[in-house]
Amino acid sequence: MQMLENISLKKYNTFGINVNAKYFTELSDERKITELISSQKDNTDRFILGGGSNILFTQDFNGLVIKISLPGIEMIDENENFVFIKVGAGVNWHKLVEYTIKNNYWGIENLSLIPGTVGAAPIQNIGAYGQELKNVFYELKGFDLQKNEFRIFNKTECSFGYRDSIFKNELKNKFLITSVTLKLSKKENPILTYQPVKEEIDNQKIKTPSISQISEIICNIRKSKLPDPKKTGNAGSFFKNPEISEEKYLNLKNEFDDLKGFKDDFNNYKISAGWLIEKCGLKGKRIGDVASFEKQALVLVNYGKATGKDVLEFAESIKGSVMDKFGIKMKEEINIV
Ligand SMILES: Cc1cc2nc3c(=O)[nH]c(=O)nc-3n(C[C@H](O)[C@H](O)[C@H](O)COP(=O)(O)OP(=O)(O)OC[C@H]3O[C@@H](n4cnc5c(N)ncnc54)[C@H](O)[C@@H]3O)c2cc1C
Repeated sequence: MQMLENISLKKYNTFGINVNAKYFTELSDERKITELISSQKDNTDRFILGGGSNILFTQDFNGLVIKISLPGIEMIDENENFVFIKVGAGVNWHKLVEYTIKNNYWGIENLSLIPGTVGAAPIQNIGAYGQELKNVFYELKGFDLQKNEFRIFNKTECSFGYRDSIFKNELKNKFLITSVTLKLSKKENPILTYQPVKEEIDNQKIKTPSISQISEIICNIRKSKLPDPKKTGNAGSFFKNPEISEEKYLNLKNEFDDLKGFKDDFNNYKISAGWLIEKCGLKGKRIGDVASFEKQALVLVNYGKATGKDVLEFAESIKGSVMDKFGIKMKEEINIV
């Protein structure tokens, strides 16, 4: 394995933040993990990097960045109703979606066009347009960097939550995911709970949408409102949608007619972080090269030369405004390094 030194990470994160890694290597064979870990001093800081689409680097990384490039998509089992697909952690997520569409395996078409790698998908239980990874997740394999051994996690052990899992908490940076196995349906199973998707299907007068039609509609919606990281640096939603009590929700609803909330299993309401930012008058606001995107306030963008610290300061000021106006604490969805 090639070990590089003092490498710029600018092209390895979709925010386009220019920081350096002291050491950098690419992992494309899981059998090399033990060799890699044992070649490092015990106190070396490590950072596991996928596609860099959910990260904000705020400073140089004074340790080893391990870029995950583990390949492979393999059907390992099937029955009358389901297929079990094992995928290498380095596979591009949307390439996997395309594979499932081609083969008519239902389950992740609503997650079309989410950037990044398959190995990172369980970290925050990726979700969009009425679907979440946990609903199709079967198990994952990875390497415990503390115990120096491989381990398999089933769904319960991953403690999936809203944009959350054990790997974002107790096991943050302590467990390297090498492959993920999904359980996908062979039978038609469209998820049309997200209103704009349903409306577009009705507009196009589609009676029973095919898997590729659903994917195409979602790709078009995403392209129309999200900035393309290849052109404008960003990491998707910067904040999570806050969950507030029923009482707080009803009080706010009294004041703001257009507030929408979705009740969860614990009687709390999830409300839109983008809406909160917009109501503070900050949608499209720009300071230097950092801005809240004009079509989707929740996405912070780097128009060129912003540093991670600039983005962080901007995000803090948004959090402050939302707290002052609504008394609601917003939490970051992205990983700050
Ligand atoms: C334009 C845009 C739109 C987006 N839309 C969505 C969306 O709709 N829904 C959604 O959920 N997310 C969305 N995201 C966020 C992002 O794409 C996902 O979180 C994605 O899963 C991140 O994958 P990645 O490979 O880029 O991870 P990275 O950004 O490289 O890493 C993210 C975290 O996972 C860890 N990690 C990465 N790979 C591994 C591994 N193999 N083992 C252990 N830890 C690992 C990293 O250390 C880091 O903490 C969007 C991002 C962008 C830029």
